[in-house]
Amino acid sequence: MYKKISLDDKEIAQYINLENERQENNIELIASENYVSEDVLRAAGSCLTNKYGEGYPGKRYYGGCENVDEIEKIAQERAKKLFNVNFVNVQPYSGSVANAAVYMSLLNPGDKVLGLSLDSGGHLSHGYRISFSGLFYESFSYSVDESGLLNYDEILKIAKEIKPKMIICGYSAYSQIVHFDKFRKICDEVNAYLFADISHISGPIIAGLHPSPSPYADVIMTTTHKTLRGTRGAIIMTNNEEIYKKINRSVFPGYQGGPLFHQIAAKAVSFYEALQPEFKQYQEQLITNCKVFCQTFINKGVKVISGLTKNHLFMLDVKSSYGITGKEATEILSKINITVNKNSIPNDTENPMITSGIRLGTAAMTSRGFKEDEFIIIANLIDKALRESKNEALLIMIKKEIAKLANAFPIKRTYINR
Ligand SMILES: *Cc1c(COP(=O)(O)O)cnc(C)c1O
Repeated sequence: MYKKISLDDKEIAQYINLENERQENNIELIASENYVSEDVLRAAGSCLTNKYGEGYPGKRYYGGCENVDEIEKIAQERAKKLFNVNFVNVQPYSGSVANAAVYMSLLNPGDKVLGLSLDSGGHLSHGYRISFSGLFYESFSYSVDESGLLNYDEILKIAKEIKPKMIICGYSAYSQIVHFDKFRKICDEVNAYLFADISHISGPIIAGLHPSPSPYADVIMTTTHKTLRGTRGAIIMTNNEEIYKKINRSVFPGYQGGPLFHQIAAKAVSFYEALQPEFKQYQEQLITNCKVFCQTFINKGVKVISGLTKNHLFMLDVKSSYGITGKEATEILSKINITVNKNSIPNDTENPMITSGIRLGTAAMTSRGFKEDEFIIIANLIDKALRESKNEALLIMIKKEIAKLANAFPIKRTYINR
């Protein structure tokens, strides 16, 4: 468990400590969440939050930047090493803002963009109509096929028809391998930029367990708080110096003001952790766990979107498997202290607030030490709870088992074994 905190402001301290307990007592299966080390927390909670420094290292609009300049440069160097890229901007506040900056760097308002549809596993910022990406750009989407897989011939066909200026790959809820080389070929055929948003799969990519977009993509973006297990935020990468200059201008002054140096330092600390051999072992375990977790549902006849997962997440079609909506499934599981999120599935007939699916991920619980056996237990308990969700006595029993399991695997304070 993280240390309890005490503040003069008792009201907020109370809720932070309650949240700390909730995180400790719940089985966290939200695929985009993780537990950072206490070192990352400390950097994020440091005096760096006081510092202003609009601009970039060596070229700031403010004085007193000699220390934050070094921190930002170290963060950049570590990210370059991790992802094998030439240029990195470590300032983006979040993945969505980073994506907006990427759009601004490569496109003019109104230009055509092609991304995966939301119900196929894409992200809001990949062209959804109520996000900046759908409002300020002309957005088109490709979808997964009936088996829940990307069909590259089909994507090429759509790309030839639409002639987008940028194609986006990399997703929020796609459990299979993304073939960046095939996307490069498609982009070359239609003369489009390739933008790889690897927010979810950056951990496996660092560990060499998923192909890297570095040789293929014009721009790469990742959030830092998912499988990468860092603080909240994002980074943008490229191997092209001209594009890098545009990205720097789009991040600041395009979309952002002063960099959050406490977050940049916390990113750097998580990059340090990701450079250690323990990180690769973690990523291997996370994928092994996910496959076993997913296979347990498949063995029970539960409908898994796209089949057996190849990364850290997968989606269940709870509507066809259990006759309940994604919203209901989320609520039932939250009663037994399992946290998941509802998720649209391909061709979902329910709206995005209800959905027919849930998304499950193994990043967080693998950080707490879960191995295959624990994920088999959890899959069995989830299946039982969703099958017999009206049986309150059963749910109470399951909740007790969940509590035991959560207690046996406390949140770790460090991931470096020395
Ligand atoms: C999580 C995610 C984002 C957005 O990140 P935020 O920090 O929540 O804005 C962008 N793209 C993809 C593919 C994601 O999964």
